[in-house]
Amino acid sequence: MQLYEERRRLVEVLKSEGVIRSSLVEEAFLHIPREHFVPEHLKQYAYVDSPLPIGFGQTISAPHMVAIMTEELAAQPSDTILEIGTGSGYQAAILAYIVSKGGGHVYTVEIVPELSKRAVENFAKAVPELLDYTTFVTGDGSKGLEIFAPYNRIIVTAAAPSIPEPLIKQLKPCGRLVIPVGNRWGQVLLVVDKLRDGSIKIRESVPCIFVPLVGEFGWNRYEL
Ligand code: SAH
Repeated sequence: MQLYEERRRLVEVLKSEGVIRSSLVEEAFLHIPREHFVPEHLKQYAYVDSPLPIGFGQTISAPHMVAIMTEELAAQPSDTILEIGTGSGYQAAILAYIVSKGGGHVYTVEIVPELSKRAVENFAKAVPELLDYTTFVTGDGSKGLEIFAPYNRIIVTAAAPSIPEPLIKQLKPCGRLVIPVGNRWGQVLLVVDKLRDGSIKIRESVPCIFVPLVGEFGWNRYEL
């Protein structure tokens, strides 16, 4: 109960800051218990607006960053969504809540098999009703996920050196990709729209810092 109260308060702050703007994103944030997506010993910090370690050198993003990305993604409940970088599964759960309202689906790819497995366990504990709307895949998401393409929305929650070409290819016309692009130490969140005629329009959203996207179209591990 106390954690729910903290969650509600955090949502109020994010709304007053203009970070949460739509009622569906607000509902999703109120619905998903972030405490089930952070390590047990960090539970008391679940509603501090900060990233937290989740093992394997990776982090769950700060709530305001999840909110900014979710608002920028502007996903519709009927959308087929691809997420690259499952991590804890929290962002995937927020998106799964949205698509559960309209028959869409979330595919989420994680390169560290143990994290992917843990994300499924987190879902099963926190939001078992959303498992039907989510498919967890282990692999290199810098190449996208060809088998279920094309997607209405693609969200990358790791920092890329440039926009991976396969992600543009796997986006539907009128689709949108949200991705942090930059170097190791800082990035800009890009909002990439594929227009009806297939042309691309790019807008810079906010500065951000993410862990690196590794793999074929990400950083080479030896460069890091
Ligand atoms: N969205 C997550 C946070 C992601 S942290 C959450 O809500 O908790 C970034 C994640 O991207 C890490 O777990 C990292 O292992 C993963 N990652 C890095 N490169 C990847 C790649 N090429 N394909 C899939 N996942 C990748």
